Amino acid sequence: MEKTLPKAGSASRPATDSNLGQLAGSALPTISSRASASGSVANELPDDLEGAIVDLKKERNAVILAHYYQESEIQDLADFVGDSLQLSQAARETEADVICFAGVHFMAETAKILNPTRKVIVPDLDAGCSLADGCPAPVFARWLEKYPDHTVVSYINCSAEVKALSDVICTSSNAAKIVQALGDRKIVFAPDKHLGRYVSKQAGRDDIVLWQGTCVVHETFSEKKILALKVKHPGAEIVAHPECEESVLRHADHIASTSGLIKYVTESDAKTFIIATEAGILHKMQKQAPDKELIPAPPEDDTCNCNMCPFMRLNTVEKLYLSLRDLKPEVDVSEPVRIRALRPIERMLEMSV
Ligand code: SF4
Repeated sequence: MEKTLPKAGSASRPATDSNLGQLAGSALPTISSRASASGSVANELPDDLEGAIVDLKKERNAVILAHYYQESEIQDLADFVGDSLQLSQAARETEADVICFAGVHFMAETAKILNPTRKVIVPDLDAGCSLADGCPAPVFARWLEKYPDHTVVSYINCSAEVKALSDVICTSSNAAKIVQALGDRKIVFAPDKHLGRYVSKQAGRDDIVLWQGTCVVHETFSEKKILALKVKHPGAEIVAHPECEESVLRHADHIASTSGLIKYVTESDAKTFIIATEAGILHKMQKQAPDKELIPAPPEDDTCNCNMCPFMRLNTVEKLYLSLRDLKPEVDVSEPVRIRALRPIERMLEMSV
């Protein structure tokens, strides 16, 4: 696979060497910041917010794409709800003039890369991701210089500039398949070290070089508390997203992407499940499997909502309304970066068929 490394550095959400690998705790938005953001615009909001959003969608010829980790009200207003792969496919295929992306920044960028003639807007431009923000393109480009003969496989949770530095993109639903399809090529995998380790195991490889990024949500689950829940509910199956730490994954009855977990819970004969991924997934899961008991896996810290993504939860129904009303904030990707990032995403979509 031929590789050319573009000059990085035109990120719309610039990152620096200092946030390599991990975001500082202070960089994380808090769930409570939503209330003040919503409160400050209260006077501008119509009484029937949901009705107004439906009207604006028609008026703007807009489509709302939402990730499973969004709050349930946003999921219910969306035209399409899915995981990263499904949302990429939906973004590429839509003929709407406006894509309103209720997810995080890298997802909206991916939509713009795949469908550049559409206007892509987001409810909150600050909705980032610890994996994407912990892998700044200039630092990543320098790191890759150590591995010139390696194929670069990047998880979709990365910036457009990092995608542009990659040979093929993957999501949690196709990562193992894509790595296996690369045969015995030397591979670097970024930015999630837990997904990378899981995929290495699936592919029977111990030589894949891993960037050391993590998801702030999936690394908070407590092995001890999950096992205590299992004692209380002996018939429960543990299902987990591969972004979780190995200490959690080793107890899982099933490991899969968000859409894979929903499918498994819906089809399994078990009646009770302990769910180790972002708690927003429970909304769709419960709709698909109303007769099942779903128990969110507890985080280590009892005093926080750590099993909710603080970035995803920056989006609110109020901000969704305002973004559709004002057609902003808009997400754009410079054309040179877009062209370079498109190729590895298209490879992924071809290899996912
Ligand atoms: S849940 Fe983790 S991987 Fe997903 S957007 Fe939030 S920080 Fe990123």
